[in-house]
Amino acid sequence: MEKILVSACLLGQRVRYDGGGFDPLQQLLEWQAQGRLVVVCPEVAGGLPTPRAPAEIPGGQGAEVLAGRLPVHTDQGEDVTAPFVRGAEQALALVRRHGIRYALLKARSPSCGNVETYDGSFSGVRVSGEGVAAAALRQAGVRVFNEEQLADLAALLQS
Ligand code: SF4
Repeated sequence: MEKILVSACLLGQRVRYDGGGFDPLQQLLEWQAQGRLVVVCPEVAGGLPTPRAPAEIPGGQGAEVLAGRLPVHTDQGEDVTAPFVRGAEQALALVRRHGIRYALLKARSPSCGNVETYDGSFSGVRVSGEGVAAAALRQAGVRVFNEEQLADLAALLQS
């Protein structure tokens, strides 16, 4: 059975920067009951505490962070690049260990976002881009979806 890497906060784990999580969607609960899910919070896996300061990537490009060309910083100006990259490596290790080809990650997160992120100004401005872990997974050949694309992933798994 195809396994799926999932953002821990989408399963209700209270790992978000503000200490919160999200009520799990029914489809996720069904996949969880089938034993399909491998759950990760890249930021916590990378060593960051919960709660923690919000962080953004200037310009919003996680691939540039992985290439060492952009930092991740908090709203207080602290450089948190290293734990973000470590978290991405932890997510990669999980997909390799479990042979995972699909991920369902939280939209717009500086780690997990797969289509958009915030621009680094901490003013709510979105840009096209990816979080650090999402970029690492895509580069490794994993198809990354977000919770707003859950139906697309479900259809793909049934085909
Ligand atoms: Fe953790 Fe990703 Fe959820 Fe942020 S979006 S809390 S990094 S699982």
